[in-house]
Amino acid sequence: MVETEPQAEKKERWNFSWKHLYSEVVTTGLCTGCAGCVIACPHDVLTYDDLNGVYKPIQTEADYGGPGDCSHGDKACTSCTRACPRFRAWEPDIDNFMFGRTRETEELSGVFKDICLARAADPELHEVGQDGGLVSAMLVYALEHDMIDAALVSYLEGDGSTWKAIPGIARTRDDIVASAGSRYTYSANTLAYMDLEKEDERIALVGMSCQSSIPPVMKQRKAGKVARRLALSIGLLCSKTFDDAIFEELFEAKYGLRKADIKKMNIKGVFQIWMHNGDYHEVPLKECHQWTREGCKMCPDFAAEHDDFSLVVIGKYNDWTLTIVRTDAGRDLMERMLADGVIQTRPGDDDPEAIALMHKLSRRSRKRWPEFALPEPGLVPPLPPKTA
Ligand SMILES: Cc1cc2nc3c(=O)[nH]c(=O)nc-3n(C[C@H](O)[C@H](O)[C@H](O)COP(=O)(O)OP(=O)(O)OC[C@H]3O[C@@H](n4cnc5c(N)ncnc54)[C@H](O)[C@@H]3O)c2cc1C
Repeated sequence: MVETEPQAEKKERWNFSWKHLYSEVVTTGLCTGCAGCVIACPHDVLTYDDLNGVYKPIQTEADYGGPGDCSHGDKACTSCTRACPRFRAWEPDIDNFMFGRTRETEELSGVFKDICLARAADPELHEVGQDGGLVSAMLVYALEHDMIDAALVSYLEGDGSTWKAIPGIARTRDDIVASAGSRYTYSANTLAYMDLEKEDERIALVGMSCQSSIPPVMKQRKAGKVARRLALSIGLLCSKTFDDAIFEELFEAKYGLRKADIKKMNIKGVFQIWMHNGDYHEVPLKECHQWTREGCKMCPDFAAEHDDFSLVVIGKYNDWTLTIVRTDAGRDLMERMLADGVIQTRPGDDDPEAIALMHKLSRRSRKRWPEFALPEPGLVPPLPPKTA
C-alpha cells in the first residue's frame, strides 16, 4: 500500500465581523470591556461606553441597522473579531502563536519562561508604586533606553477626588510617577491608543489580564497596524475589578468614607482604605462582591497569561513582586534592568507559597469560563485535581 501525505487541512476563512462579535461576546457576558475591538476598528464605527458600569464597545451609527450590525462588516471588515481576546478559540490560538504550543493541563497560570521575585531599586518609584513600583520602574527604563516611545497606562480623572480611573498616555518619568498606583475599578488603558499622534511610535501596554491578551491576538489574527506598534505588554494579575458605584453605594453608604477623602486603596485579603486624614479602614471582600464588574464574571484569566510580564504581590515578602517572565523580550528587559542595577531579584523558589497561591487563584478564575462558550473541545483544558 502506498502511503499518501495527509491532505493539508483547509484553513477556515476569517470572515467574522461585528455581528458575530456582538452576538457571541458583547451580549453574552464574555466581553471584558478591554476595548481591543474599538482601537482596531478602521472605520471608527465602534465607540466605548464606560458609564454606569457598562464598559463595553457600542456601535452607534443609526444607519447600520441597530447595535448588532455594521455595514462595513457586511463588506467583510473583520478587524473587531481579529482583535478580540475572547472571540472563538482565542486561548489556544494565542498560546500557539506566543509559545509554539498550547498549554499543558497543569499550566494553570499560562506558559512562562522564568519566575522570580523582583523589586524596584529607585526609591521614588518604590514609594509611589502600589506594591513597590516594579511596573513603573520597567516603564521608566524602557522609555529611557529607547525601547518604547510611550506607554498606555491609567490615571485618576482630574485631581483624583472622583476616583474615576481613566486611560492615558505616559511619555516621561513624571507621567509614569503620576500614573503609578492601583485603582480597583476598570480602566481600558487600550483606549489611550486613540490619542497617540504619531504612526510609528513603539508602545507599551499596562493592563489587567484581559487587556494583556490583546497584543498577541491582534498579531496572530493580523488585525492591522495597531498590533505592530505594541512593543511591550505588562500584565497586572487580577481576579476582578469593581463597578465605580462601589464608592457611593458601599464605602460611603455603609462606612461613611467619601471618595474625595480617600488617599489610597489596596486589596490584600480585605479592601484596605487609607484616608487623607490618616485614618485606615478595612472592608471585607465578601461585602464588595455585588459590585463586581460584569465583564469580570466570566473571565478565566487571573495570571495575565499572554503578556511579556505578569506581576503579582501575594507572597510573604511584601515589597518583592512575584514576576512571571513569558517572552524573550521580557527576559531581555529583566536582564538589562538587573545588569544596570535598576531592579533587584531573588529566585521564585524563595517563596513557593506565593507561586502556589497564584496557581490556586488561577484555577479559581479558570472555572468562570462558561460551558456555552466552548466552541471546540480543549479551549479551556480540564483542570487537574487539587493537591492538598
Ligand atoms: C484592578 C486590579 C486588580 C488587581 N488584582 C490583584 C490581585 O488580585 N492580586 C495581586 O497580587 N495584585 C493585583 N493587582 C496588581 C497590584 O495592584 C499592582 O498593580 C501590582 O502589584 C504592581 O505593583 P507596582 O507597585 O509594581 O505597580 P505601579 O508601579 O504602581 O504601577 C501600576 C500600574 O498599573 C496601572 N493601573 C493602575 N490601576 C489600573 C487600572 N484600574 N486599570 C489598568 N491599569 C491600572 C497604573 O497606571 C500603573 O502603570 C491588581 C491591580 C489592578 C489594577
